[in-house]
Amino acid sequence: PRRLVTPEKRDDDTDASIRPLSLDDFTGQEAARKNLRVFIEAAKARGEALDHVLFVGPPGLGKTTLAQILARELGVNFRSTSGPVIAKAGDLAAQLTNLEERDVLFIDEIHRLSPAVEEILYPAMEDFQLDLIIGEGPAARSVKIDLSKFTLVGATTRAGLLTTPLRDRFGIPIRLNFYTVPELESIVARGARVLGIAMSEDGANEIARRARGTPRIAGRLLRRVRDFAIVDKEPSVTRRVADRALGLLDVDAIGLDQMDRRYLTLIAENFGGGPVGIETIAAALSEPRDAIEDIIEPYLLQQGFLQRTPRGRLLTTNAFKHLGMAEPRRETPQFGLF
Ligand code: ADP
Repeated sequence: PRRLVTPEKRDDDTDASIRPLSLDDFTGQEAARKNLRVFIEAAKARGEALDHVLFVGPPGLGKTTLAQILARELGVNFRSTSGPVIAKAGDLAAQLTNLEERDVLFIDEIHRLSPAVEEILYPAMEDFQLDLIIGEGPAARSVKIDLSKFTLVGATTRAGLLTTPLRDRFGIPIRLNFYTVPELESIVARGARVLGIAMSEDGANEIARRARGTPRIAGRLLRRVRDFAIVDKEPSVTRRVADRALGLLDVDAIGLDQMDRRYLTLIAENFGGGPVGIETIAAALSEPRDAIEDIIEPYLLQQGFLQRTPRGRLLTTNAFKHLGMAEPRRETPQFGLF
């Protein structure tokens, strides 16, 4: 199913034009920006490569954007790849040998590197060296190749998915959090200006409230609302215009869609509100467990609709309220004990 509010990148996301290009243009993530600014200044002052950076956080929060900004602010080349597309150790070796001094190499979904490829990365990150085995059998020999001193920027949705040796090699780990509604409002307002869309403050607020704390979704909703406004010949995107468009697109008042409601309703109706194991939920929804954990649950947890307990997922009173359902009396205490 093609979800409008999925935080994952879709091929119709034409967001290049509203992507912020500098740390100053980047809204929110105050702590991350402050730290990065210091590290960038220090690296530039020393004339050295920035330490390796790991961005951790749900999809669509700006990990790729920040990596590009880093390269730009450092005045170096930006090279980009992702865990699943690096099939062989040789593919990564080729990328690494092409880097110039202080370049940024961005690896998205770095938790999906194969073990053989990860092996190559350790000495590259630590000593800026490639250890390659050339040939096979008794004729095999190992060669060392010096690399430029580069900065690896890794991105992952959950730090726990990384192997410990890989995680330990990042000097600058940075966690990105969901954005607040006021932050998203200013991202939407800026996007509207860039795209030449007339919009009122309450229009921006309506889109921001439904964007699930995620700039990528805010940008997508903005473009869809604009399409409705054009067709309906509305001169400006007001709250009324945004509300009508998003209602027709089946995005509710806090940004939940059909998929979220299926998830919540399943636990509420079939499992008495939980606790129920993630594997059971995945099987019942016919969705991969990873997708549920990366894409559906983080926002529901953040909204306080869901708790993770050792015995499984548990809906909160708020979730039942949002669904407009009566909360069953449950034997499992909602809070405490664990
Ligand atoms: P991720 O790599 O975490 O999945 P991206 O960096 O690709 O996310 O960002 C997704 C979209 O959201 C991009 O279009 C980007 O321009 C926009 N975006 C992300 N963070 C911000 C921000 N802080 N301000 C404005 N736009 C942002």
